[in-house]
Amino acid sequence: MANKLKGRPPGSPNVEYVPVQSFPAACPKCHSTELKNVQGAKVTRRNIAGKLPNGFTFGSVEHRRMRCKCGQNLIVRSYFQK
Ligand SMILES: [Zn+2]
Repeated sequence: MANKLKGRPPGSPNVEYVPVQSFPAACPKCHSTELKNVQGAKVTRRNIAGKLPNGFTFGSVEHRRMRCKCGQNLIVRSYFQK
């Protein structure tokens, strides 16, 4: 069948999965992922489109200031499809 690659295999649930980016941001100093939001820090969201190395296409990027438990300040980037 020519359309063998299209469609779902028999028995697949009819559920659509949306790919999302889940990078646990890690501190470059101590490699901890225990990051806390900085009090009163602004979250910057920019409409920048692009593609991540894993193929995820994003339409906006959010920059959030966070602080690691070791005291290192970080800007954590989150990617959104829109
Ligand atoms: Zn750290």
